[in-house]
Amino acid sequence: MAIFSEYNFSNAKALIRVDFNVPLNENFEITDDTRMAATMPTIKKILADGGSVILMSHLGRPKDGPTDKYSLKHLVSHLKTLLGDVKVEFANDCIGQEAIDKAAALQNGEVLLLENLRFYKEEEKGDTAFAEKLSKLGDVYVNDAFGTAHRAHASTAVIADYFPADKKMFGLLMEAEVISAEKVLHSAEKPFTAIIGGAKVSDKILIIENLLNRATDIIIGGGMAYTFWKAQGKIIGNSLCEDDRMPLALEILAKAKSLGVNIHLPMDSTIADKFAADAQTTNCESYGIPSGWMGLDIGQKAVADFREVILKSKTILWNGPMGVFEMEKFQNGTKSIALAVAEATSKGAFSLVGGGDSVAAVNMFHLADKVSYVSTGGGAMLEYFEGKELPGIAAVKKG
Ligand code: AMP
Repeated sequence: MAIFSEYNFSNAKALIRVDFNVPLNENFEITDDTRMAATMPTIKKILADGGSVILMSHLGRPKDGPTDKYSLKHLVSHLKTLLGDVKVEFANDCIGQEAIDKAAALQNGEVLLLENLRFYKEEEKGDTAFAEKLSKLGDVYVNDAFGTAHRAHASTAVIADYFPADKKMFGLLMEAEVISAEKVLHSAEKPFTAIIGGAKVSDKILIIENLLNRATDIIIGGGMAYTFWKAQGKIIGNSLCEDDRMPLALEILAKAKSLGVNIHLPMDSTIADKFAADAQTTNCESYGIPSGWMGLDIGQKAVADFREVILKSKTILWNGPMGVFEMEKFQNGTKSIALAVAEATSKGAFSLVGGGDSVAAVNMFHLADKVSYVSTGGGAMLEYFEGKELPGIAAVKKG
């Protein structure tokens, strides 16, 4: 594989798989352009070298071919704004004559955006003929779509087979994601604390199991903590619990003990009489929640305990909120942990925040620039930390 920053794109047509899967409102206005903005350095470097850029992406989950709602044409004007003084063309199809002609006519310094890849079912099927057609549009393949790196789709993985090793590479965003993730997984400075939260144990089992072999401390917060308490015979009232996962929770606790990994559960919780923003709330021990009440956030004692562990850490991985942070009454735990991670970072720790909801939380509390790295790829980052090889990464590295 080639190294993006060392590659000279002069006179080259770079075919870039980007993740422009941005949220749009009913007027087709972009409500959060993070994913588009994140890939601009990659595009700009190619243009500055004197090359041209062909962008391909998916948007949403179109079921039946071309659908206006999912057309990437809605992104063209914002793309122009982000790029400034650059000519941006749009092709109404990602393959076919129009795409071929527009790609061929592209001059150095210009950008062509192709229509939604998922208008073809071949994209998600990883169809080789479709991938080959796409590959013909450019001279060099750049994968900058970390958000879809865990999918073996035509444009994210299969297409790489149609480029020789010296003509395929990661873009700057992908490279930054991979470097940060590898740093945490393979060369984490100890103490290494993983903070795992969110709703369900079942979603986070694989990541916890993989981290047991790497982390020194694992903090478990959010709804999933109550399954761990109940599994130990404690009373958790009406808190979220996956009864069928209780044996697994006990196995994790036993394995952690044998490996010398400290598991930290929230000792207290903010409890509520209903799952609602206007619920009545109080604080109690997480292992003695009265019937009719549910734990919706970690409590003050838990915040203090977790903070102490976080501030001692040299490497921090955070995935998943500590409570129902979408509601103001249950925000304190997640916000306090975000602040502790930011504080540890300012003292020299490396912190990586990955996974949709914890990223949303750091953004909500305006702390994104106070942590070392915020990953743009929720599912991809999760699978990476589960120890899986991501097809989008493997395909570029191979050959
Ligand atoms: P996940 O997608 O698994 O990271 O879960 C995130 C969701 O978990 C968020 O929408 C939170 O509101 C929810 N959550 C966090 N803590 C709790 C809790 N104690 N009870 C119920 N839901 C929770």
